[in-house]
This record gives sequence, C-alpha cells and structure tokens, in this order.
Amino acid sequence: MNNRHQKSEELFSRSSKLIPGGVNSPVRAFRSVGGTPFVVDRGEGALLFDVDGNKYIDYVMSWGPLILGHSPKAVVEAVIKATKSGTSFGAPTKGELNLASIVRERMPWIEKLRLVSSGTEACMTAARIARGATKRDIIIKFDGGYHGHSDMFLTEAGSGLATGGLPASSGVPENIARTTITIPYNDIKAVTKCFADNTNKIAAVIVEPVAANMGVIPPAEGFLQTLRQTTSEHNAVLIFDEVITGFRVMSGGAAQLYNIKPDLVCLGKILGGGLPIGAVGGRKELMDILAPLGDVYQAGTLSGNPLSTAAGIATLKDLADLSVYDRLRTYCEELTSRLTTLFKQYKLPVTVNRVESLFTIFFTAGKPVIDFASAKNADMNMYARFFHEMLVNGIYLPPSGFEAWFISDAHREEQLELTVKAVEQFLKKESG
Ligand code: PMP
Repeated sequence: MNNRHQKSEELFSRSSKLIPGGVNSPVRAFRSVGGTPFVVDRGEGALLFDVDGNKYIDYVMSWGPLILGHSPKAVVEAVIKATKSGTSFGAPTKGELNLASIVRERMPWIEKLRLVSSGTEACMTAARIARGATKRDIIIKFDGGYHGHSDMFLTEAGSGLATGGLPASSGVPENIARTTITIPYNDIKAVTKCFADNTNKIAAVIVEPVAANMGVIPPAEGFLQTLRQTTSEHNAVLIFDEVITGFRVMSGGAAQLYNIKPDLVCLGKILGGGLPIGAVGGRKELMDILAPLGDVYQAGTLSGNPLSTAAGIATLKDLADLSVYDRLRTYCEELTSRLTTLFKQYKLPVTVNRVESLFTIFFTAGKPVIDFASAKNADMNMYARFFHEMLVNGIYLPPSGFEAWFISDAHREEQLELTVKAVEQFLKKESG
C-alpha cells in the first residue's frame, strides 16, 4: 500500500485487532492475491469509492446481489419507505407474500418457498428437507461447488469416488462429513456410480447448475439432464443451488436456461437486492414437510425481514423488463471477446468461460476448464499480478482467480473501454 491508501490502511489495521483477519468473510482479506484490502466508503452505479477517495470500476458487485448496480434509486427508496414502517416484526407481512408471488411467477417450478436470511441457510434447509422427506442421510455435492458454510457442505472427497467425505474445515465432525459424498463436476459416470454404490441411501444431489465458485464452469452437455433423470429414478431430491444464477443467467435462472425442473431451489443474493436474504423453494409436497405443517424444523427471527423483502421486490420488479438480460449479455460478450483477442495478441494463454453475464478468465490454455481439477491448472500467481495491476488502474476484480466477475446493469461502454485499456497495460508490462 502507498499513500493512496493511507486511510484504508489505518482502518484495516484497527479492524484486524477486533475482527479476525479484519474481515467478516474470508475472501475479502485478499489472502489469495496478497496485499491489504481497501476499505469501502460508498458505491454508485458500477463504481466503488474507498475511504481515501479512490474510485474503482466494480466487478465484484457484492459477489452478485447488485445486478442493478450500487444504490439504485428504486431499491433505495423502497428500503427507506419500508424502514419508516418498522424494521422487523417477527410476524407475517404483505411484503413476504409479494416477494414469494414474484418468485413463483418467474420460477413456476417453485410451488412454495420459505424465506431465510442467507444462502447458507437456504442450502442447509434444502438438505434437511431432502433428508426428512426421503429418510436418507447421504447428500452428493460436486468438487469446487459452494453451498454455504454449514458443516455438511464444508467437506471434501474421501479416498474413493463414491465414498463418504472428509472435513474441509477444522470444527466439522468426521461423522457429518461422512454423510456428504463429493464427486467431480460434470462427471456423469461418477454420478451413476455413486447411485449404484449407495442404493436407497442418497437423499439428494445439490449442484450449482452453472458452477461459479471455482470460477465459472458451464454444465457439460447432458450433465444436468443426467442428474434430473438419476435422482428421479432413485427417488432422491435434486437441489439446484441458484444463489448466484437465480435471476441472473435468465429471469427464471439456470433451471429456465437449461429447461430442467429441480425439486428444490436455493436462492439468495439478487433475491434480496443487496440486503440479507435467502430462500428455499420447490415442490409443494416437499415444502409442506417444513414446520409448522410437517416435522422438519426450521426457523429464523429475521426471516422475511421487511427491508430485505422491500429491496428484493424493487429489484425483481426492475428485472421484469427482460431487456436488462440482453444488456448484461452484450456487455459481457463484448468484454470477453475483446479481452480474448488482446490476450491472444500478447500470446498469454487464457481460457474464458462464460454463461450469459457470468464469466471467469482462467490463466490456462490448451485443455478446457470443465471441473475443479482443470480450474486448478490456472496460474494463480499470474492472476494475483493481474488483479493488482488492474486495481492500480481503478478496476476492482474478484480478489481470487476462482471467482466469477459480476457485472450490473449500471456498467456502461465507458467502463468497458477503461477495463480493456487497463488489461492492455497489464499485458504490455507482462510482455516486458
Ligand atoms: N450457494 C452459492 C452458490 C453461493 O455462491 C453462496 C455464496 N457465495 C452460497 C450458497 C452461500 O450464500 P451466503 O453467503 O448468502 O450464505
């Protein structure tokens, strides 16, 4: 850090004494790219300003929720209005009904849904519903997928492909990790084998229909169809974790994009327009096993919070005009195609994976990036250099090479041009 970040440095140093690592979620600490994070003052449209007054074009956008950009007028006004009527009641509100109705319209396969306060809670609840409904314990997930930080998902593959998992974090009991089987993303054979080896034991398969937590990886031809077919054949529950993809890759999320009906869907991020929220929804008979109707318990003091529902409704109303998806796609298409050309010109090998407005640039070439193992071929030291060079030039990229870049409807041609220019500057430096 130089003088340009003096105030950030001071504040972060004080935070580090009070908050573990100075952050309230680990990736914010810049550990994968090195350096000290800047401290945010405010956001406006596609831009972020730090406490020293530096300006950045934001490609993180709070990790996905801000599809309309920072502080969009409609959302800000809706939240202010809601605040004046009370910030939390712990009792039913009309806002909950209105938000649930919009979700049902956009995603008709969600017959009923319950609002929670985060994506983590949504995924945890989905798994509990699946286990309660099937009276089975095993959950299948995919290597490199992220479904929040509950014990059952902080696991990694054990010794064999179809065997129970191991804790991926200290504090996760081995007994819990054993109930989660982790297999490679896009590996159809591994899915089939897993079901064959664990007859009548698998409660659910949970999948990011477009993987976005190991960088963006699209589902291979037939992968999601196989999951749908195999889970149905074995009376297991198919859970789409659409915390990132929901309302982003299409109005109805990845389920609509790939025309697959999951049994349960996990939502978050865009659903709350930047305020804390999550939701689990799906087939009525599955959702009705939640308390108070059924015997699967779940609850939350702030669930369905009126400020979150107000922000979510305002955001989803804005997204009803589907032209937003064309604008997002066009920006990403143009940005990724111009960057691909530039990287080629400077002979720096990259692989760009993109699905609609979700994309990642991996510093690897030759083999396609189709799963976590191939994503790990990317040169993360190079990414760290890239990240810092871009930051110096006022472009804030995800502080890890295993993340999606998030754009918003507030990103404009001007920002695109500045981004391309900054990348070219990086490439000139790299090529010496
Ligand atoms: N699922 C996916 C696909 C996610 O990307 C995330 C968070 N990035 C979560 C679940 C967890 O959501 P939250 O951070 O709101 O708990």
